[in-house]
Order: sequence, then C-alpha cells, then structure tokens
Amino acid sequence: MHRNGSYRWIRDEMTLQRAADGNPSAIAGVWIDITAHRTAEEEIYRLAHLDPLTGLPNRRLLNERLSAILSEARRYGSHGAILFIDLDRFKNINDMLGHTAGDAALMEAARRLRMAIRATDTIARIGGDEFVILLAEAGFTLEDAAAHATRVGRKMIDAITGQPIVIGERDYHLGASIGFTLFPKPADTIDTLIREADTAMYQAKAGNGDVVMFLPAMHQSIMVRHTIENEIRAALRNERFEIWLQDQVDNSGMVVGAECLMRLRKGDGRIASPSEFIGIAESSGLIIPLGRWLLREACSILSRISPEQPGCGLSVNISPRQFRDSSFVTDVLSAMDDFGVAPDRLTLEITENLLIKDTLEIGRIMGTLAGRGVRFSVDDFGTGYSSLHYLRHLPIREIKIDRSFVTHLPHDVSSVAIVEAILAMAHRLDLDVVAEGVETAEHVAFLRTRGLTHMQGYFFAKPLAATIWLERLLVEQHSTISRP
Ligand code: C2E
Ligand code: CA
Ligand code: CA
Repeated sequence: MHRNGSYRWIRDEMTLQRAADGNPSAIAGVWIDITAHRTAEEEIYRLAHLDPLTGLPNRRLLNERLSAILSEARRYGSHGAILFIDLDRFKNINDMLGHTAGDAALMEAARRLRMAIRATDTIARIGGDEFVILLAEAGFTLEDAAAHATRVGRKMIDAITGQPIVIGERDYHLGASIGFTLFPKPADTIDTLIREADTAMYQAKAGNGDVVMFLPAMHQSIMVRHTIENEIRAALRNERFEIWLQDQVDNSGMVVGAECLMRLRKGDGRIASPSEFIGIAESSGLIIPLGRWLLREACSILSRISPEQPGCGLSVNISPRQFRDSSFVTDVLSAMDDFGVAPDRLTLEITENLLIKDTLEIGRIMGTLAGRGVRFSVDDFGTGYSSLHYLRHLPIREIKIDRSFVTHLPHDVSSVAIVEAILAMAHRLDLDVVAEGVETAEHVAFLRTRGLTHMQGYFFAKPLAATIWLERLLVEQHSTISRP
C-alpha cells in the first residue's frame, strides 16, 4: 500500500549474499513499481480480439465486424448470412483423451473451417466447440443468399467430416451441425441474429437436416425451451425438485414397493409433471445432475424404511442419456454405499429403446450393476423395439406392461392378446411383471385371473409426496388396514 493509501503492483527481485565461508549473510535486491505495466497488460488483454487457442477472431471482434457489415447491408441492400456451427462428438475427444487432445482437435477443425471460406468472410470461435461464420454479401436476393449460405455450410461439413482428425495414432470422426439466418431484416440486432442461427443449428442437431435455415416459427418453441431450461437450473439450485412415490402392490393388495416419480415445484407453487421437463432436461444434459440427485434422494428414502417392512423396494426411472453418462455406474454405487442401502432394494427402470444401440456397452454397464445386486426393469414394455433377444441376454429382472395395453382390458381383444402373450413370455423367462395404469376393479380382476402378481395404478394409489408416503407406510406398519 502506498503512503497515499492507494495500492501498487510491486515486483521484487532478490539475491542471496554469501559471506566468505559460504554461509548466507544478506538478501539484496530491488523493488520495482510495475503498476503502469500491469494496467497496460490488462488493457491489452481486454482489447485482445483473438481467441488464443485457434487464433480466430473472438466474439468481440465478431460483433464489431457484424455491426459494420449490418449497416453496410442496410445501406446497399445486399444480403448476408450468419452461420452457427457446433461440432458433433467433440465432447467425446475431450472426455476420453483430455484437454490437450481436445485443443488439438479444435485447432485442426478451425484450420479446416477457415480454408472453406473466402478471405472477405469472417470466422470466429465463440465458445468451446462453437464457431460463427459471417458471410458478407452472400447475394442480392434472399434466395441467392440462402443458396450461398447452404453451399458454404455443406462445404464446411465436408471439410470437417471428409477426413478423420488424427490425434496420436488414432483417427477421430467429428461431425458438424450448422444453422444459419439471413440479414438484414427489420429490427435485427447482433444478438437476435446470432440467437436465430443458434436456434436453426439446434434444429440441425435434432436431426432436421445438416444445414438448416432459421424460420420465424422456430422462435416460439425455442423460447419455451429456454424458459424451461432456466427453470430446471434454478430448481436444481434451490432444491425445488421433489420425489413422489406411487405404490406397487402384490396380488393381495399389499404394498411391495413404489416407483419414484419426479415433480418440479415452480416459483408460483404450481407442480410441474415430468412430461413438461424431462425431455428438455434430457436434451440439455441437465438430466445428469438431476438424475444423480434423484438416485441419492431415493437411497435416502430407502435408508429410512426398514428392510423387513413390506414396501421396502424403490424403482427409479433412468433416462438414456443418464445411463450412457460415464459417471453413471459410480453415481449408482456411491448413492447406495453412502446411505447403506442393499442393492436389491433398488430397481432401475430403463426403456427398450436404450437397448438398441451399443448393445454390448449397455450390457457391460448393466452387468456391472447387476453383479452388485441392482435390479433392472424394462419400462413401457411393448411400446418400443420389443426384442426378446435382449430379455434373454441382458440381466433384466422385471418388465412393466405399458399403460396403453392395460387401459382397454378386458374388452379389447388385441389388448387381451398382447397382455397374455407378455405374461406367457415373462413366465418362461422367469421375469417379474408389473402392470401399469391399473385404474379399475375390472383391470384388477382380469390381471389376477391371468396370474399377474404386481400392479401399479390409480386404483390402488396415486403418486404421493415422499414424506406423506413414508408417514403412511409407518402408520400402516402398526395397523392392519385392509386394502383393495
Ligand atoms: P412412467 O415411468 O411410465 O410412469 C408412470 C406414469 O403413469 C406416471 O406419470 C404416473 O403418475 C402415471 N400413472 C400411474 N398410474 C396411473 C393410472 O392408473 N392411470 C393413469 N392415467 N396414469 C397413471 P408421471 O409421474 O407424469 O410420469 C410420466 C413419465 O415421466 C414417466 O412415465 C417417466 O417416463 C418419466 N419420469 C418420471 N419421473 C422420472 C425421473 O425421475 N427420471 C426420468 N428419467 N423420467 C421420469
Ligand atoms: Ca417408469
Ligand atoms: Ca411406464
């Protein structure tokens, strides 16, 4: 601190002085006030317009060029395009090989993208694996500009996918999804244009083409998406997710377990159902922290129920993305270990569609968990890719007959046939069966005569908040209330 109270940056350079006998005798040196130097450095840093990794313009330089080109386009009536590029599968390289390899891949991708554009166009890196390309004077009509932008987009995809990227000894295949928007248009700003291109890119990622042009109709859906995504993030931070539990009962109506169903309590107190947010949690990746939280919550509930008590098992829905995440196995095992829960009290519900792709890898993960005693159940059975093959070769213990088949029992002939076929097959493969969406006494009667053992549905109980469900379980432990 300076005499006048201000703070200064000081660099000190010291050397050790030694006496004739070699022992240290003093320290001597200089102190230099480098405050001016530091300030200048910071200024230069702030002013830097380039992305240090790829040497490409950064967002700031992009904004400057874009605003210049926008006003030019307005003045001369020409059209330009903004392309938003996101690399596919880049995260794999980063996760598997580390950041040095990830950086090498990014540099190579940047080099190829740069070669695919004209000198008058700008390519900027604006985030991890996100690039924006600014095409000035893409055409005199909107049609020309759209055609030109599509051509450039395709060329870039070819540049990325044409040859593998070599890192070390191995080849990696990156992909790219591209969205674009055209300018000028009424009331456009730099931010709205980039957001539009981003929105279109999202459509490309969702499988609607490789190079997708922004259409105003995309706006509405993306707005909703953004809002819900923010809501999920906030709810994760503020612990506004809840677990609700729905009974699973045996043939005599006795509770043998429950399924965990997620609810989100919104800011206004309204409770949102999973159909409103699970899809978005899945596509945004937020399902990973959310699913992790749910697993721990479920184990915490389990640890409060005595193992001797009926109703001691819990089922948890696992989304495909969560299952494929590299931390999944550890997440499950550490949740059980931390709460001292026996693995066979936890059932993981997965869907048939998870089992189609990378079957070997999926089987390996299931094997690891099943080896520790965790049970697997196939949810919504019959609605997806029903293959008997996986039932035999994967460690599956239970299937859940989808509600759509139960609803029309016992009058609809094909529902009856499907349910009977599923039961016969499950019996041969020695699998447990749970019927979902059991709503009426007729459903129950039909299922009982067919020997089905486990049922779940509004006829027995609606989902209840976990605390209420637990309280009821503890009360019933001490009485003998007869259930339907
Ligand atoms: P699901 O796994 O098939 O869950 C059963 C759904 O059917 C639940 O809806 C439940 O409330 C409802 N249901 C139960 N009995 C009846 C009945 O008798 N009649 C009718 N009409 N409906 C009944 P919910 O809670 O809205 O969950 C919807 C879906 O959201 C679930 O379908 C599941 O796929 C997903 N989901 C719920 N919680 C989670 C979660 O924690 N993680 C993941 N990944 N997905 C979840
Ligand atoms: Ca389920
Ligand atoms: Ca289901």
